[in-house]
Amino acid sequence: MSMQTARPPERGDFIRDIVAADLQAGRSKTVVTRFPPEPNGYLHIGHAKAICLNFGIAREFGGRCHLRFDDTNPIKEEQEYIDAIQADVRWLGFDWGEHLYFASDYFEQLYAWAVELIRAGKAYVDDLSADEIREHRGTLTAPGRNSPWRDRSVEENLDLFERMRQGEFPNGARVLRARLDMTAPNINLRDPVLYRIAHVEHPRTGDAWCIYPTYDFAHGQSDAIEGITHSICTLEFEVHRPLYDWLIESLPVPSRPRQYEFARLNLTHTVLSKRVLLRLVNEGHVRGWDDPRMPTISGMRRRGVPAEGIRDFAAMIGVSKADSVVEVGQFEHAVRDVLNRTAPRRFAILDPLKVVIEDYPEGQTEEMEVANNPEDPSAGTRKVAFTRELWIERDDFRDEPPPKFFRLAPGREVRLRSAYFVTCREVVKDASGAVIELRCTYDPATRGGDAPDGRRPKATLHWVSAAHAAPAEVRLYDHLFADPYPGADGRDLFGNLNPASETVLRGCLVEPSLVGAPIGETVQFERLGYFSPDPDSTPQYPVFNRTLTLKDTWAKVQAQANTGS
Ligand code: ATP
Ligand code: MG
Repeated sequence: MSMQTARPPERGDFIRDIVAADLQAGRSKTVVTRFPPEPNGYLHIGHAKAICLNFGIAREFGGRCHLRFDDTNPIKEEQEYIDAIQADVRWLGFDWGEHLYFASDYFEQLYAWAVELIRAGKAYVDDLSADEIREHRGTLTAPGRNSPWRDRSVEENLDLFERMRQGEFPNGARVLRARLDMTAPNINLRDPVLYRIAHVEHPRTGDAWCIYPTYDFAHGQSDAIEGITHSICTLEFEVHRPLYDWLIESLPVPSRPRQYEFARLNLTHTVLSKRVLLRLVNEGHVRGWDDPRMPTISGMRRRGVPAEGIRDFAAMIGVSKADSVVEVGQFEHAVRDVLNRTAPRRFAILDPLKVVIEDYPEGQTEEMEVANNPEDPSAGTRKVAFTRELWIERDDFRDEPPPKFFRLAPGREVRLRSAYFVTCREVVKDASGAVIELRCTYDPATRGGDAPDGRRPKATLHWVSAAHAAPAEVRLYDHLFADPYPGADGRDLFGNLNPASETVLRGCLVEPSLVGAPIGETVQFERLGYFSPDPDSTPQYPVFNRTLTLKDTWAKVQAQANTGS
């Protein structure tokens, strides 16, 4: 029996409980879910939550999950989005197999069902304009009023609906509405619109149609056609559920899906709305839908976020019915967790300062053995060339070190990672007094990074050989919105864009193994953060995006919460 093949979920939630109970009681033989994006933009991290939920449930309970494009509004929909959405779901690690569907595949069937509703006296053609319909709808406190066209005969409705389809009327001239109850307390039941006229080319059906079903009319019926058992959506659809059920019960649909709602994901410093994301793109605030600052799946991928990090985050936040805002730091924590385990360590200098080791033989090169990942011995080691002239991070030196600054300073000894201890003997400055070079000496007995006498410098620095270093560009990223709650309390969304959300560094120098690093492989620049090659890289000149810094403020907050009162 199917329930025996159903494995318990790794972590329960109220939707998984419902699915498990339905399988247990035999109300569903198998679970069939769907992810139903509208192809009017790229997917964002909120969609990722819905994807992990729908595909995750199907996987855990041995069912299946469909990818269905809700392509009912051709005014805003494009093939580019259809392609991008499929690539993003795949990249996230999910597979719909043969079950790729489009609501537009059902247009003929939906039309036939609309005709049945008219025949049953449950739908009518309304000549009111959109404004008049809104005006007749009433408010939360005031009932609506019937349209003067509400009592047309079935014959007249059939004739007009047919002529709507034939293209006789201009956009907005007429709509098809359900005949429900204009005084219903739930506004969604006040004769909702089922069909609109739109003389617009559709990405898939071309000019075959000039009337298009609304979400409300298309969605539940598409679920029924596909045999969806659990139609999972976000809370804003809760008030649509009575209409969903009414349509399913009014029509001879082939199966009986049920809708369940969960709270959408909200993140601090982030806006999850395709409408706003589209504006960011169109107004040139970002490099495109896949800009590394965008909360889109493609933006996160370009930034170097591993799919596993997004899936872990979804599992970590879980699913509930209560609206909340998740700290973006929690997302970063999940991503760091994966990267800390998996990202190879590399040496890169963002703001280079020259170091000359005066007593190191000129022309000599030593291959230093450097661990690829101290967290993972199986990641092995690599050879990094060491020479007399090196670059270190400018920030790792202070001419006059403040208290607690343990890195390099005049007269001080530090360790160069996996190489030698060096001591700063002289500081070379230019005419303006800026430090341009450090003259150091080294201790040959410390090769590999340990002293036979057991002395331990307080700081270990990363470095690259000047003769071997490769130039690179590095792009540092910060929140796109400085405000943790962008647009809250009527604040202007676009007035709040963080001017420092992107900083481009051009004179960076990286170890040669980073040239030609594959796109999609995120590395740790030791002591600096996680970085990932950008598609703007060329074979000669790599460009890196900073995925995240190393600092995990979320972990600190958690630790404080746990140890605090
Ligand atoms: P947006 O509000 O960003 O424009 P949308 O809801 O219009 O998104 P759809 O393409 O209709 O986008 O969404 C597809 C599915 O993803 C829906 O089932 C929707 O409920 C879900 N979804 C959208 N945003 C979120 C979110 N922030 N958290 C969880 N699920 C979401
Ligand atoms: Mg939507």
